[in-house]
Amino acid sequence: MSNPVQEFFRRDRVFDFVAARSHPVIRGEIDTSHGPILYLDEVTVSFDGFKALDRLSLYVDDGELRCIIGPNGAGKTTMMDVMTGKTRPTSGSAYFGQTLDLSRMSEPEIAAAGIGRKFQKPSVFPEHTVWENLHLALKTDKRVWPTLLARLTAAQRDRIHEVLETVGLEDARDRFAGALSHGQKQWLEIGMLLAQNPRVLLLDEPVAGMTQQEIERTVDLLNSLAGAHSVIVVEHDMEFVRAIARRVTVLHEGRVLAEGRMDQVQADPRVIEVYLGE
Ligand code: ADP
Ligand code: MG
Repeated sequence: MSNPVQEFFRRDRVFDFVAARSHPVIRGEIDTSHGPILYLDEVTVSFDGFKALDRLSLYVDDGELRCIIGPNGAGKTTMMDVMTGKTRPTSGSAYFGQTLDLSRMSEPEIAAAGIGRKFQKPSVFPEHTVWENLHLALKTDKRVWPTLLARLTAAQRDRIHEVLETVGLEDARDRFAGALSHGQKQWLEIGMLLAQNPRVLLLDEPVAGMTQQEIERTVDLLNSLAGAHSVIVVEHDMEFVRAIARRVTVLHEGRVLAEGRMDQVQADPRVIEVYLGE
């Protein structure tokens, strides 16, 4: 006998985001009673025999803000692809909480279950306002105009206000997203993820191209999100990682080279060698 979750994922059809999101099992509590919210256990991803991930084991605690660094080709993007269902592990296991097996879930199912991802390039709707972008993020209908013409519930309005405040874009709510600064676009996109209330946020190089001032505000923003959300940040900018000053994982050749506080990993001779050899 299989449990309802296994049964749900075994069904032979592609769930769209709407169906997945409203499904009680997927929307239900993520079991983090043992601490971690994400478990990668000995995950290997092979591309024609080349191991982009090589028995990678990584645990992220519920509410943690974790930075992942590592030279080009270390496997950072592939790791996020496994966490979001874009790439399947060749072997090993990947779990969201104790019970959700990520290797059996589709991308929309994983997004609906509460893992949100921000890609490097901002993908806001430039010809719509900040408010409209957040409205669009709340909705499950992919079409823009029918969504914008539908009325928001009071709870949805409250959620948008809350997100505007969190990402510091209240004063910009009626501006076109296309007219925002690079940093503001990145914050808007983080806001669009937050509107869907994810448990885990995956951010790929969120401060690339930002000014120093924008980087500082982003550090504050991510620090404020930790706790209520688990945040995993892949980043090249060392100043930024140092400013966040949380647990850092260094990836190299598809596995964990070092893990600990930034000052610890920076002093690790293996880490120094990998970075100097780049
Ligand atoms: P990072 O994000 O740390 O720079 P990636 O995860 O993008 O690293 O890549 C890890 C390694 O896997 C690289 O050597 C890359 O060339 C290889 N790789 C990634 N995706 C594929 C793919 N689809 N096919 C073949 N090789 C890939
Ligand atoms: Mg990458």
